[in-house]
Amino acid sequence: MKKIVVLMLIVLVMAVVYFSGAGDFGDLFNNKRSLNILFITIDALRKDHLTCYGYKKDITPNIDRLAREGVIFTQAISQGSSTHYSVPSFLSSIYVRIPQLKNRFYPPTNTNLPEILKEKGYFVGIMGANAVYPYDQTKLDLCENIDDIQAEELTRRVVEFLRKEQDKPFFFWIHYWDVHTPRLSLAEAGGDKILQYDTGLILADEHVGILLRELERLNLDKNTLVILSADHGEGLGEHGSWSHGGIVWDEVLRVPLIFKCPGVIPKQRRFDNQVGLIDIGPTILDILRLDKSEEMEGSSLFPLILNKQFIHCPYIFSEHYQDEFKPGFDRYICSVRTQDWKLIRIRVSGSEELEYMLYNLKKDPKELTNLAEVEKRQFEFLKQRLEDWLKQKRTIVKLDEEIAKDKAKETVERLRRLGYMQ
Ligand SMILES: [Zn+2]
Repeated sequence: MKKIVVLMLIVLVMAVVYFSGAGDFGDLFNNKRSLNILFITIDALRKDHLTCYGYKKDITPNIDRLAREGVIFTQAISQGSSTHYSVPSFLSSIYVRIPQLKNRFYPPTNTNLPEILKEKGYFVGIMGANAVYPYDQTKLDLCENIDDIQAEELTRRVVEFLRKEQDKPFFFWIHYWDVHTPRLSLAEAGGDKILQYDTGLILADEHVGILLRELERLNLDKNTLVILSADHGEGLGEHGSWSHGGIVWDEVLRVPLIFKCPGVIPKQRRFDNQVGLIDIGPTILDILRLDKSEEMEGSSLFPLILNKQFIHCPYIFSEHYQDEFKPGFDRYICSVRTQDWKLIRIRVSGSEELEYMLYNLKKDPKELTNLAEVEKRQFEFLKQRLEDWLKQKRTIVKLDEEIAKDKAKETVERLRRLGYMQ
């Protein structure tokens, strides 16, 4: 009899744990609001150069360890092929959806994650190379939007912050760009562009390691949600490109996405579902048990992570507007992507003419055979999804003319400095 009672108790406890969704997680599950968040992005990091995503060279031990201790998404799609389309969309969980993003002015938003978390009592800090933060810096506790800053200095500043006594939970976003602008010159890499790219990645990975070890040393790793991703990937010779910020090919859209938090996020799980970076904000809010704004277009990935019912939009959109690198050149590129198909639409420079490219990603993951003329039904169906999405385009903010002029000048100077313009 005693045995039966004990057995029943065990079954009861297991049922409670299972149905609460907590699995084998600890107390943190019920106290997630006290979690810190360390959000790490690495500019121009494509996922397939990380060992945890299948790269044959073992060059990213720290990111791989993070992946082993958390969950990874294998089909995380960026909402733009450049920083200035991707970052505002993942911060606000709203697509930029502006076919002419002149001088990088963004529509104001009530859904900017750093501002939301600040309102909810978080200490919000951003340390970003590539002047990455596009919204009002004065609304945050700390925002260092720096152009030419290297990993050593960024890490040093973040570690300095972590070591200070905190009286509230923090959300800290750090954006590295040592992959975007590797320090090894092409000549030093013996003309090997892949080696040059990987060298930047090795350095970025070392710095991710420093941050993770510091969290452990300070005993902050137990209650800090670490997220690692990238704003976009990089062309490494595919489609003739060694850069990003052009056509929304998969090599510039597919980025790593890793979540780790002991007691909240299970270990060693891998999800092949297509998700977007616009899902990051809603996921963080869900983990913290905070409501997502209705305007947000992304969905929380937390139910999927916990193997609960997961309803997600099957279409992910990405875009880019090119005009600033070549005077007189002007084209808007956008795409709709499902798990198996991608339709790219390009408004050709100097005209209203549209070009389409349709790819079967299952059979042709390198996007080499355009099926727009062959798979007519699929083409029409996705074209309609794209048109519906574009119809929801947002109003471009009209800024004061003087501010606009200054901003334009600033942008041109930056791009020249970065070598994008002559
Ligand atoms: Zn970027």
